[in-house]
Amino acid sequence: MSDKERRFSRRDFLKITGAAGAGSVAASIGKLSGASEMTAPASSRPALVPTRPFGKTGVNVSMLGLGGSQDLMSKQLLLRQAVKMGVTYWDTADRYEGGNSEKAIGNYFEKFPDDRKRVFLVTKTSSSDPDRMSRDLDTSLQRLKTAYVDLYFIHAVSDVKDDISNSARIWVEKAKAKGKIRFFGFSTHSNMEQCLMDAAELGWIDGIMTSYNYRLMHADAMKKAVAACTKAGIGLTAMKTQAKFFAYFYADIGRESDTSSKLNEQFERKGYTPEQARLKAVWENPDIASICSEMPNMTILQANVAAAMNKTELSFQDKQLLKQYSRETATAYCAGCARICESALEENVPISDIMRCLMYSFGYGDHRKATRLFVSIPGATRKRLASIDYSNAERLCPQNIPISTVMKQTVERLVAPQFGSRVRG
Ligand code: SF4
Repeated sequence: MSDKERRFSRRDFLKITGAAGAGSVAASIGKLSGASEMTAPASSRPALVPTRPFGKTGVNVSMLGLGGSQDLMSKQLLLRQAVKMGVTYWDTADRYEGGNSEKAIGNYFEKFPDDRKRVFLVTKTSSSDPDRMSRDLDTSLQRLKTAYVDLYFIHAVSDVKDDISNSARIWVEKAKAKGKIRFFGFSTHSNMEQCLMDAAELGWIDGIMTSYNYRLMHADAMKKAVAACTKAGIGLTAMKTQAKFFAYFYADIGRESDTSSKLNEQFERKGYTPEQARLKAVWENPDIASICSEMPNMTILQANVAAAMNKTELSFQDKQLLKQYSRETATAYCAGCARICESALEENVPISDIMRCLMYSFGYGDHRKATRLFVSIPGATRKRLASIDYSNAERLCPQNIPISTVMKQTVERLVAPQFGSRVRG
């Protein structure tokens, strides 16, 4: 195969998205309106997103997963198209969109019951208390209109020893025996490396969804943690793969470098976008079974599917440029190592969560999500954010983030009139 053939071209992209794209969209509209499904001859069926084994579960999952932390109610067609393209790992949670994410998926399964078997369905609870988990799971099953979920997570674990008790283990065994869940695990975006190491030691965790991207994946601690999970047979899903930073802050410190433009130009020449390249960087680790990506529209779904289908590996130069870019923008990216900065303060301030608010607000432009997370922080803490002395935390931060400045700007931006009085509490 020549270099030219090996490269991912716009023609490849169009081939992939064209095969499963506009034509299928039109067909799906017909099906959603109740028309019967015509079985396409095998030769004209679009290729599906490849699958990877999910730990030792014996299940293969699509290497691209659909993130449900978005308004899916009006996106039944997107769900339909995801299945058609083989994006059959679906992630939701009881609290996403106030339960509407689960309800939207439930509506979909009611319309297309055969697709339930095709989808590897993941949902989450925010509690590890067995009684609350039972209630939450039943509510989720009801909303999802299904008798079971494939993988049940405890949401946003930051300390396995504190957040996952032995009573949770007993609950899991019972829920599995009743056929309500097939597998169990947790999601984490704080202290991920330690959480992964502790989970590997526990020996009964089936799967973990963790922040993982081109910025985090090269650190020795992360490499060790992923290897430990792989050895323990834990299936791994990567999230936050775009590794967005706080854009406004980035601009303020004048760090916009040539590397960013070089990176964009280089990927552009090869026919893929920086976003697709960041996904590919993560998939290059075979220990990552799937990437959970919030794909809010058909264009992004198709672009991500094209990236998953394309076999071209990133070149050494691509990877070097990504690493250089990561180094140059480190001070505007929070690596989630909450233990380091938060234990340096005398009072309890969830610095890592606040940084995540900023990432949602400025990196992803999702102010609603930023606000929801921000208001979950106790009002008394929010009010004091700008007056706390963060100097000890700043000294320890491996990303060299000027935490005091960021906290002051958080107060200015998230407790601003556009977010309304709800935020002030
Ligand atoms: S602010 Fe720094 S120390 Fe704290 S979680 Fe983020 S990167 Fe880690």
